[in-house]
Amino acid sequence: MSLNTPITVAYGDGIGPEIMNATLDIIKAAGAKIDIEVIEIGEKVYNKGIAEGIEPGAWSSLLKTKVFLKAPITTPQGGGFKSLNVATRKTLGLYANVRPCVSYSPYIQTKHPVMDVVIMRENEEDLYAGIEYRQTDQVMQGLKLISEPGSEKIIRYAFEYAKANGRKKVTCFMKDNIMKFTDGLFHRVFDRVGAEYPDIEKESWIVDIGAAKLATSPESFDVVVMENLYGDILSDVTAQMTGSVGLAGSANIGDKCAMFEAIHGSAPRRAGQNSANPSGLLLGAVMMLAHINQSGTATRVHNAWLKTLEDGVHTYDIFREGISKQKVGTKEFGEAVVARLGQMPSTLKAVTYHDFEVKTFPHYEYANIKKAKKELVGVDIFLHWTEGTAEELGNKLKNIAIEGMKLSAITNRGVKVWPDGMKETFCVDQWRCRFESTAGKASHQQVISQLEKFTTAGFDFIKIENLYTFDGANGFT
Ligand code: NAD
Repeated sequence: MSLNTPITVAYGDGIGPEIMNATLDIIKAAGAKIDIEVIEIGEKVYNKGIAEGIEPGAWSSLLKTKVFLKAPITTPQGGGFKSLNVATRKTLGLYANVRPCVSYSPYIQTKHPVMDVVIMRENEEDLYAGIEYRQTDQVMQGLKLISEPGSEKIIRYAFEYAKANGRKKVTCFMKDNIMKFTDGLFHRVFDRVGAEYPDIEKESWIVDIGAAKLATSPESFDVVVMENLYGDILSDVTAQMTGSVGLAGSANIGDKCAMFEAIHGSAPRRAGQNSANPSGLLLGAVMMLAHINQSGTATRVHNAWLKTLEDGVHTYDIFREGISKQKVGTKEFGEAVVARLGQMPSTLKAVTYHDFEVKTFPHYEYANIKKAKKELVGVDIFLHWTEGTAEELGNKLKNIAIEGMKLSAITNRGVKVWPDGMKETFCVDQWRCRFESTAGKASHQQVISQLEKFTTAGFDFIKIENLYTFDGANGFT
């Protein structure tokens, strides 16, 4: 029986096959113990009319090997196609997107010569749940969903990663001064989980000023954990700050499966020219080796790669007259790394990988959820309405409140416009009308009766949100 670890490989589109060949040649030469299964993804599959860009049979390989080394693909223009990346992340439960962003000064030009940051992006939740609606003529809605287990998984992964990789600090970026429930939860989970790691320094920044600090003083950051949207934006910014988009690899980690790739795309204009830099995919493959407990091989490859950069053997994207010594193609760059296997960098910081396993957390089971005392106390009814002022709407609605409920407020885009609104406030055609129980406790039947009153009075309600308290605390803003 083979002692090798089976992995699934996709060669992708554009420069994908060239950088994948170089990457596999290097890690095999370094002694990676892998058995490769190749699957087809990307353009060819989309062109067959398969909307997800992956052959249906390919899932069985991924579910069997649970390890996916993926070259970039070309995403077709136009509607009807689904993002393969989003499909893979969600289907395989890959909740953590890990992107180390490192400067290699003076060998690669960058404005930030001291920089070694790992962006840890939550991968499944937030506005990326893709739940969006058109509600009125003027208003679109996208739902931002943040869950406690979703936050805990990525935050715990960030701390475990820091511990296993000798990192000193984990920083949390969020915006809980504005999004008190969603980002407030993420921040609370960070504080709770962080307390279990006394040896690691912790800090939190509001994302806007944190991002500004990251862009100007990246040397003050180590591991930075954040929700999906902030992470999507800031991981690209941070990778680009190191000098070339061709340099960074990324890991997408789940409890059961993991996917490794370069952060860049398929660079179609460079395809077939043997010119692309294979470094991003190679560093993705190095993270894969550490993930499958082949840390020794990961360390060998990474250090040989650093030595290659130091020796000035550079692909076109990082080649600079006066700094670089030899401009090489994709294949020759791979051969240069192979020739340096076993060597260490002399100026750049050498890297050591350690095997580490992320624990799965049994308390995510429904049966283990700590249940709060949940009480229904009212309902927000959202209306599509254009027939007058806030004052007029308030006067109409307070007369159709059912017994036991009272209209307590109307807001427009979150600003209170009734009672005592200001006529200066700009209003759109969507109104949130809050009905609260006069007895402090409402029923679903009361909500239904209230909606019936709206229908009878000819109001177009487009959505409702029940108002709950949890152990006496308001579960709404
Ligand atoms: P890109 O990353 O492919 O290219 C951006 C620029 O960086 C180009 O100038 C390109 O030549 C250069 N570049 C990228 N990788 C390089 C490398 N390894 N070596 C040297 N130079 C490199 O981004 P794009 O042009 O916006 O997208 C091209 C295609 O890739 C699109 O179809 C896009 O949807 C797709 N894409 C795929 C992935 C993925 O599969 N994970 C990610 C991003 C984009």
